Amino acid sequence: MARTSRAIVQTAPRRLELRELPIPEIDDDTGLLRVEACGICGSDAEQYAGVLPVRLPVVPGHEPLGIVERIGDRAAKRWGVDVGDRVAVETLIPCGHCPACIGGRYQVCRGRGGMFGHGYVPLAQPPALWGAYADYMFLDPFSIVHRVRKDLPAALAVMFNPIGAGFRWAVEIPRTGPGDTVLVLGPGQRGLASVVAARAAGADLVIVTGLARDARKLALARELGADHVIDVEAEDARVRVRELTGGRGADVVVEVTANAPEPVAEALHYVATGGRIVLAGVKGLKAVPDFVSDLVVAKEITIQGAFGVTSRAYAAAIRLIESGRVPLEKMHTHDFRLEDAERAIRTLAGELPGEASIHSCLVP
Ligand SMILES: [Zn+2]
Ligand SMILES: [Zn+2]
Repeated sequence: MARTSRAIVQTAPRRLELRELPIPEIDDDTGLLRVEACGICGSDAEQYAGVLPVRLPVVPGHEPLGIVERIGDRAAKRWGVDVGDRVAVETLIPCGHCPACIGGRYQVCRGRGGMFGHGYVPLAQPPALWGAYADYMFLDPFSIVHRVRKDLPAALAVMFNPIGAGFRWAVEIPRTGPGDTVLVLGPGQRGLASVVAARAAGADLVIVTGLARDARKLALARELGADHVIDVEAEDARVRVRELTGGRGADVVVEVTANAPEPVAEALHYVATGGRIVLAGVKGLKAVPDFVSDLVVAKEITIQGAFGVTSRAYAAAIRLIESGRVPLEKMHTHDFRLEDAERAIRTLAGELPGEASIHSCLVP
């Protein structure tokens, strides 16, 4: 087999290079993944632009799907997979020993220094091939893998990441179940995934908000299971949410808009008394104007942040994808070749006119 792997290396903000990197030796506890596809998400665009605190140079790509090319005996036993199996790889590589890991919050583990995960560990740390913008990716002893059926198209199977986020943010954290009304703010890939997950969890009513320019995504939200969509520029969303919920408001509000802080303040008006608000959209560290904390007090609202995805949510996502119950392929808009990584990221970021992306992936 090849001794080197093509890999995209980010050397500075907005600078990507295609390089050949040596394929690492595998020992008893590690493995090598042949990348079939790598999902692209909003944080790839932030990493590219240089707004995330990522150590450079680095091979990006934190949503890997691939085939186990080589694996150590102990790793095969621990992971329950072997050469030739298809696996989804979780982003975070936890240390397994820090208070976060011991406390069951491995997705916020910082025990290995900074954010340690596929797509985020710098080139300087051997064996360099940590990210999935490459033909091959290293599997660390602490990487977490999930077996995925091989007969699904890679572009569909790689959606385990956004759909997993939907299960964690819209179901696991707010404990969504039958009878709940779920309001999703923002119809991007995470918002659509939240719709899919809330529906799968048995939510009674699912509503999605967006802007006028999101018309296509809002239509897709309907196809994926939303009962109602609201264009917040054309309608009074507070009034509409009240109408749709019989005056109660939503039991669960999931905030997944990018960069806009205003919907966080609005969520307090949409949520029902005793309701739960999950904040998962990042705002570039901007403060939230018009945040009326008295509403939190008076309505006994629970507000919780969501960072990353858990194994349980990934597993739920993979089962849903494998079931074929939801036309998830309608979310998929673009496949890009490895050498087109820059165009892929800029397309997702909306920098290229006329190219509207929802879910896209790199296919080396
Ligand atoms: Zn991502
Ligand atoms: Zn840890």
